[in-house]
Amino acid sequence: MFDNKKFRYAMYYVFGAGIILMILNFVLVDFKTQSIKYNEFTKMLTEKKIDEVQISADKIIIIPKPEEGQKKKILYTVNIGDDQLVEKLTAAGVTFGGVANDTNPLKAFFFNWVLPIIMFTFLGRLIFGKLDKKLGNGVMSFGKNTAKLYAENETGKTFSDVAGQEEAKESLVEIVDFLHNPQKYVEIGAKLPKGALLVGPPGTGKTLLAKAVAGEAKVPFFSMSGSEFVEMFVGMGAARVRDLFKQAAEKAPCIIFIDEIDAIGKSREGNISGNDEREQTLNQLLAEMDGFDSSKPVVILAATNRPEVLDKALLRPGRFDRRVIVDRPDLKGREAILKVHLKSVKYSENLDVLAIAKATPGAVGADLANMVNEAALRAVKHSRKEIMQEDLEEAIEVILAGKEKKDRIMSDKEKKTVAFHEVGHALVAALLKGTDPVHKITIVPRTMGALGYTMQLPEEDKYLLTKEELFNEISILLGGRAAEEVEFKAISTGASNDIEKATQTARSMVTMYGMSDRFDMMGLESPSNRYLDGRPVQNCSAETSSIIDEETLKIIKEAHNKAVDILENNRELMTKIAERLLDKETIMGDEFMEFVRGSESHED
Ligand code: ADP
Repeated sequence: MFDNKKFRYAMYYVFGAGIILMILNFVLVDFKTQSIKYNEFTKMLTEKKIDEVQISADKIIIIPKPEEGQKKKILYTVNIGDDQLVEKLTAAGVTFGGVANDTNPLKAFFFNWVLPIIMFTFLGRLIFGKLDKKLGNGVMSFGKNTAKLYAENETGKTFSDVAGQEEAKESLVEIVDFLHNPQKYVEIGAKLPKGALLVGPPGTGKTLLAKAVAGEAKVPFFSMSGSEFVEMFVGMGAARVRDLFKQAAEKAPCIIFIDEIDAIGKSREGNISGNDEREQTLNQLLAEMDGFDSSKPVVILAATNRPEVLDKALLRPGRFDRRVIVDRPDLKGREAILKVHLKSVKYSENLDVLAIAKATPGAVGADLANMVNEAALRAVKHSRKEIMQEDLEEAIEVILAGKEKKDRIMSDKEKKTVAFHEVGHALVAALLKGTDPVHKITIVPRTMGALGYTMQLPEEDKYLLTKEELFNEISILLGGRAAEEVEFKAISTGASNDIEKATQTARSMVTMYGMSDRFDMMGLESPSNRYLDGRPVQNCSAETSSIIDEETLKIIKEAHNKAVDILENNRELMTKIAERLLDKETIMGDEFMEFVRGSESHED
């Protein structure tokens, strides 16, 4: 009933008008009339100040004779049933008469019944309406589905928009073909997978791939996030699942995409307290997936970055039995992704995309898209018409370390500490064998907390690291603090981040990579989540755990000593570079290496 807009407006109108009338009535009546005592009335009578009197059962309304310069005011008093009233009135020569009580039944009905009902419905609507909004389509629209809001007839994306995920695309081509040509498969009796699970870290393009499948197959795309199913009331999520599948079946062939499926698909085991709503939703999803005809071209794609928590029932054949890995892109992939995003912006002809791809190991598609956009913003800021190499380089740093904070004023002493700290990292990196080359050293503070940083760029993506490489990595991390010790014989808080990373690496060497003599190849920790950087889970006794700490400390101490040794042996070089850095604030890799090589030839 309340969905009818016209009716609602009419109701608002009636209610508003009613309130205004009531207020006016009160105000006006109060302005125009005044109550007086009965004896004052009789006094006025004897003084012949009254023009006219109207008598009703409970009230006597008095209209006084107008006085000079005064407005005519109506008075009233309570009818106390005075027997001699008529005589007194006649004696005073007043015109008088009776007034019947207000007995209009229609009016009484309106005020006693209609108006209160309207008022209460209106109030109820107001309160529930607010609640409704708060709960997001809750109370009033129970069981209503919001999936159609996300239905797109044409996603406008194709496989050419997704770069660097060739294997994932290959696995999905078959699904596209199935959506195009279901008959071909039905004829031979083949059953195609109903669902495919896209697994990978956030931002690698899972949603984009799902959209591209829909775009390639030119079919509608229904999308919903797992968390949207789970609502306040038990049963609502299940109702949504039902609705979603019903709508999808009507529009077949089509694609249903469920993002973050782990929100509903979490394993039901080991959950003592239980979560009725989630379980019901999951059961409904399982039932729907089993229920629909596999010859009906509806394909369900789901994305998650926590495949290990999913309920086994979801993964069994006939449900999400295909797993498409959408991992972080490699060097070639990053280059391709950058090129895809550069297509929509103007850029300089001599842009070296490969160099940018090299500088962004570990970055996912979303980061790279963001970088291109940051670079475009920077180009506009510098009133340029196209993106230059330096814009992209700066964009990488903005995303890694935040914007430059030029207005931060540091004392000379602090600046000197930061300079030595950074040169410490860089020198240890340069003087150890097999490490990544230093690309840049800077002491310009950034908004994400870094007071300075040293950037190393790997020549190529690495998939395997040796024990020596890991050990060197720790030495480089501890090189900053080592430089402070060597130069100032005093230490600062600046190394906290380095310490955290170094400890993490040393610990993993002991617990996961089998790189300590003490534990040989025993696995002591396992990663809790492959795609999100969660804390590893320890699977050893408390005693072993304390030995792990000892072993970790041993590695750290060794690496620390090594860094100190290197810097002590090259103190002059360190001072020279640090002075240069203090002067220029930023040194690029080439210049830095000139210093290093210069000192080597000098030593020779
Ligand atoms: P996910 O669903 O894996 O978290 P999205 O698909 O939402 O990631 O990716 C976010 C954005 O990042 C996309 O809209 C796209 O602009 C960009 N992106 C991510 N991966 C790629 C890729 N492989 N190729 C091109 N662009 C990508």
